[in-house]
Amino acid sequence: MIPQILDGKLLAKQTEHSLSQRTAQLIMQNPGRIPILATILVGNDPSSATYVKMKGNACRRIGMDSLCIELDENTTTQQLIDIIKDLNANRNVHGILLQHPVPSHIDERQCFDTIALEKDVDGVTCLGYGRMSMNIEAYGSATPQGIITLLSHYDIQYKGKHAIILGRSPILGKPMAAMLLNKDCTVTICHSRTQNIQAHIQQADILIAAVGKPCFVQTDWVKPGAVLVDAGYHAGGIGDIHPDAFALSSAYTPVPGGVGPMTISTLMSQTLSAAEKALSINPSSI
Ligand code: NAP
Repeated sequence: MIPQILDGKLLAKQTEHSLSQRTAQLIMQNPGRIPILATILVGNDPSSATYVKMKGNACRRIGMDSLCIELDENTTTQQLIDIIKDLNANRNVHGILLQHPVPSHIDERQCFDTIALEKDVDGVTCLGYGRMSMNIEAYGSATPQGIITLLSHYDIQYKGKHAIILGRSPILGKPMAAMLLNKDCTVTICHSRTQNIQAHIQQADILIAAVGKPCFVQTDWVKPGAVLVDAGYHAGGIGDIHPDAFALSSAYTPVPGGVGPMTISTLMSQTLSAAEKALSINPSSI
């Protein structure tokens, strides 16, 4: 069996095209208004700066705009909260992205939870997470939501499948588990304290690797025919799954060009939805 490539780059490009059309329509119906994503970058981490730049560029490709707020490494939790509150109150801002991680002296959770639900387009608030888990309308955490969009686009079957998720972070592993549970998967989450992780991985019909360690999943740990989703990205274009394992799968996300583009595309899509709701094109509860 030749594995199917779950091409996130291609799907993200197609999605951008339709988002551009929706953005143009929104602007036409609301002269002088433009969908705006506010991005907040705290400190000097080069990877974070690159991610924020990529998100701003994606906004402009679609015809939206971004308001980039760059803050000093020494910014306090209270200063960051005050800035987020100002953005919540700003009618011209439709989505807010606080780039993760912030410097360790900042209470990231408190700052995330200051973001208003209707502007939480990156899906990082506890309220959004709780609503999503309960199948109530909310913006999903961008990376797992992008993974679901990609798997669904390729008609991957969820019902009754055993999904193993490697990683339990608030932005990836935990929301991924809730989303797959809502899709009728049987879900196991593994983390750094999991014993005999290889035995768990060998049971996966769908494997989501989000551990942040290059080639963590070895080829002989993978069940033949499994669907492999690799959220990791490391130097040299290596993910969290050994690339030789992809040949054993029924479908896999390439690294790069799988999960990464879907994260940005999901953020754009959710920002546009927030702008449409704010401008009453598509009113809803959030
Ligand atoms: P994170 O916050 O560092 O979480 C890593 C998770 O992996 C934790 O739950 C940790 O367990 C677990 N882990 C670490 N070492 C392990 C081990 N030896 N065995 C089993 N589990 C282990 O990372 P994250 O933000 O979720 O990101 C995970 C990966 O996805 C990273 O490679 C990141 O770069 C990538 N990512 C990609 C995108 C994208 O758009 N492509 C977006 C976000 C993240 P504990 O909880 O026990 O510590």
